[in-house]
Amino acid sequence: MKKLLFLLVLYTYSLSDSHIFVYHRFGDSKHSSTNTSLEQLKTQFEYFKKHNYKVVPLEDILNKVRKKEDIPSNWVALTIDDSFKSFYTNGLPLFKKYNYPFSIYVYIEAVQRNFKDFTSWDELREINKYGTIGLHSYAHDHLLKISNDELIKDTKKALELFEKNLGFIPDTYVYPYGEYNQRIEDTIKSFGFKAVLNQSSGSVTKYSDVYDINRIALVGNTNIKHKLRYKTLRMDWIEPKSYPKDGILTKVVAKVDPKIKKLKLYVTGHGWRDIKVKNGLVNETLNVKLKRTRSRIILGTDVFTISTKLLIKN
Ligand SMILES: [Zn+2]
Repeated sequence: MKKLLFLLVLYTYSLSDSHIFVYHRFGDSKHSSTNTSLEQLKTQFEYFKKHNYKVVPLEDILNKVRKKEDIPSNWVALTIDDSFKSFYTNGLPLFKKYNYPFSIYVYIEAVQRNFKDFTSWDELREINKYGTIGLHSYAHDHLLKISNDELIKDTKKALELFEKNLGFIPDTYVYPYGEYNQRIEDTIKSFGFKAVLNQSSGSVTKYSDVYDINRIALVGNTNIKHKLRYKTLRMDWIEPKSYPKDGILTKVVAKVDPKIKKLKLYVTGHGWRDIKVKNGLVNETLNVKLKRTRSRIILGTDVFTISTKLLIKN
């Protein structure tokens, strides 16, 4: 019995899949699609406590990724996008009460121009005492819809105002709407950020790319237990590399562990299908029309052990 228990514990903690979550608004029921009520937040925090999850600074996970070291699977990091006022007024007191670190991502224009519903620079300086602050662009555009010159201009302006008001240069960047492609990733990287975070559900492991870190959205009555089940399927994506010009997804090609004989494949709007894998190669002909301008292709051994490719129409 003892041996079985030992094996179970070993199994649970040797997978090394950590999780990074993203919140938006707190206790703000006017915006239900991005809101987490304080009751829900408390339930999630209690879940972490009760089940031995350790809420660590985001930087601790990123450092493990950089050093390619195993990340304890009970590590969790919490991020907050957009710097809404409701984090300062409603969310922050609870983070302080639990002594949970966090990273907040600032939509610079909203703060600079005093948009209603957003924090002020003063409030951000106060927030900075308890967590770290990163960049979430100046104008919060859909980055695929602006030119590369505009993206560079947006980022420069954001960095200038960030440094002027907060006194330091941010280490990390978060894409508005979680939308990006290789060109955008390369441009953002060229500014010297030490990490870039997306918004694709999945875990973070020592094999993650520090410039493409998964984050799982938490909104409303999310089942936190389910979200913590996400694991990473290690694989190399070969095709597709980007959104097909004619919108037809002809096939999916990827390399996986040769021990894997079958997988599940998901395409947004087309659901899941079972596919066969031969000698570690996924080579699935699809010829399906992508239904959305923002589509995800997911390969997984089940719906939780996955790798995701996000395709966005340019
Ligand atoms: Zn945002």
